[in-house]
Amino acid sequence: MHASPTSNPPTAHLRIHQYRTLAPGPRVIVLGAVHGNETCGTRAIERLVQALDSGAQTLARGQLTLVPVTNPLAYQRQQRNGERNLNRNLLPNASPQDYEDRIANVLCPLLAEHDVLLDLHSFQSQGEPFVMLGPVDNTGDLEPFAQAAQEQALALRLGPRRIVEGWLQTYAVGVQRRLERTAPGDRAHLLSTDPCYGIGTTETMRRHGGYALTLECGQHQDPQAPEVAWQAIQRTLAHLQLIDQPAPAPTPAVEFLRLTEVVDRLHAGDSFARPWSSYDRVQAGQTIGTRHDGTPVCAPQDGFIVFPNANAVAGNEWFYFAQPSTRSLGG
Ligand SMILES: [Zn+2]
Repeated sequence: MHASPTSNPPTAHLRIHQYRTLAPGPRVIVLGAVHGNETCGTRAIERLVQALDSGAQTLARGQLTLVPVTNPLAYQRQQRNGERNLNRNLLPNASPQDYEDRIANVLCPLLAEHDVLLDLHSFQSQGEPFVMLGPVDNTGDLEPFAQAAQEQALALRLGPRRIVEGWLQTYAVGVQRRLERTAPGDRAHLLSTDPCYGIGTTETMRRHGGYALTLECGQHQDPQAPEVAWQAIQRTLAHLQLIDQPAPAPTPAVEFLRLTEVVDRLHAGDSFARPWSSYDRVQAGQTIGTRHDGTPVCAPQDGFIVFPNANAVAGNEWFYFAQPSTRSLGG
């Protein structure tokens, strides 16, 4: 039995599988393992490469690009980051400082050659899969966008019933608070207080005129997560007609939430009141955690805990707070 082709990828290059059909259509790119310990997308992409290469599945039109391991160093180390988080401050850099800067110099131009991105992730705590949706159409400075309808339509067809919006806007407010709170220091500080730090794969796609979704397929070890990823790819290909399959119907009864606040961990002694999972409900005033000096951190309103990270490095995101979104997703 031979080893899985991506069991120990070299870190000096990105392996990119590209399928250009002979008929016009959308240019779609799918990423796995932007975070090295999130391998559900890698498994789903390997399965698809095998299906396409063997002829078990055929593309009808358009172009499909598959990157099974987007951060090889992090993947090899079986951890989230190589030298830093690839999904932050994802910008071309003429004088790259670290491994992820060098990946960005390859990945950003690659993304710019595409119309649609599906970025496959998993998460640390228990919970069900969810889709991260971009902003409404707008001409603002932070994240101007004109393809919300197309992005929403795809979000409603990936499979998972839970959809979340408001990430970059909420993140930008968090960065502002961080700037006000701390004095300039090392590079980690510079990065975490740079508004561009919020730019990841999906933001890069939208900046280049495309649209993009992040799919969080389940807990890192959940054996179902690769299947969630696989189904989402298949549904994307059918929705965009890269494969001749019936267009998937929109997911009924979605739960659509908006991130409204990010709270940083400020000290290694800051601790949660209980081991939170994403989307645990909290009531206004309920204690979420306690600062190292005993000050309680309470829910500002009725809502949900999202992305709790009990081990967050001091000065970085501890958890997000979400409430039901009032935006219409169409159908
Ligand atoms: Zn991730």
